[in-house]
Amino acid sequence: FVSFITAFLLAYEPAKRLARVNIDLSGMLIGARMLLEIVDSPASEPDDSNKPALKLTHAQVEFRDVTFAYRPEQPVLKSMNFIGPPGKVTALVGPSGGGKSTILSLLLRFYEVGEGAVVIDGQQISDCSRVSLRRQTAYVGQDVYLFRGSIRENIAFGKLHATEEEIVAAARAAFAHDFIVGFPQGYDTPVGEHGTQLSGGQRQRVAIARALIKDAPIILLDEATAALDSESEKFVQEAIARLCRDRTTIVIAHRLHTIMHADQILVVEDGEIVESGVHGDLLRKGGRYAAFFRLQQDEAARPSRHI
Ligand code: ADP
Ligand code: MG
Repeated sequence: FVSFITAFLLAYEPAKRLARVNIDLSGMLIGARMLLEIVDSPASEPDDSNKPALKLTHAQVEFRDVTFAYRPEQPVLKSMNFIGPPGKVTALVGPSGGGKSTILSLLLRFYEVGEGAVVIDGQQISDCSRVSLRRQTAYVGQDVYLFRGSIRENIAFGKLHATEEEIVAAARAAFAHDFIVGFPQGYDTPVGEHGTQLSGGQRQRVAIARALIKDAPIILLDEATAALDSESEKFVQEAIARLCRDRTTIVIAHRLHTIMHADQILVVEDGEIVESGVHGDLLRKGGRYAAFFRLQQDEAARPSRHI
């Protein structure tokens, strides 16, 4: 039962949910009582643990004619179709409010689609248990959430019973190991509320280490827009590249590097995919992407190279 609860909590990684967990967590370490409060809270999702588990074979993600609205009078996604091919990076770009974050929320089943279906490896995710979906999906959001505890605990949060070797391997792969061992207390350094202040780039690398240790076949990534110093930027970029390698990735992309190297770019505007392709082709086409890209180029020219 406790492991079910823990799996449930692991499923709560996304920032939106963590905002709530954060409130419950403040001032304490994860304890069974707190976990039960989350599970029992009236805001929690209806139990669907009787549904079959999502079984991944290739980790192909699909939106089939997905229509969605938070409020009936305001459609947000309009009959959206796309495929996130197995092991490839799909970058979502487009103006604010277009529906990019909503796409990730639907992939995690924080909301149910109106019409159409979100399908993974031929299974409608609405027919599978949420826990099985979220166990096989790692989300890294813009606001990195570190709970009060050691760096080690914050990384190990990605996997039940993670060993010391696994924790260090994940930290190394995320370019976090060197700065961690640079602290006097190393992996025991307390972080989170009242803990050691980590820089934005360090927090992101801890979050990436947490996602790496989870070793999920599907990665949902909302890249941070905040500029990092160029040293951190380089490491975060490479850590993200490692996280995405050979995993099906859907990324809300703000980094020029990510966009240019994506296997597929989807331009999302006003709830629709208005263009898709790779960077070079879309630029040559001279359509929405090219216009959007040029519009952002001033910013992209800054040293941090964010768009
Ligand atoms: P993007 O990530 O591309 O900026 P979003 O998916 O966040 O776009 O938002 C798409 C639309 O849905 C916007 O009009 C936004 O105001 C609306 N929206 C987003 N989240 C919610 C929510 N929780 N409740 C109501 N409306 C929302
Ligand atoms: Mg967004």
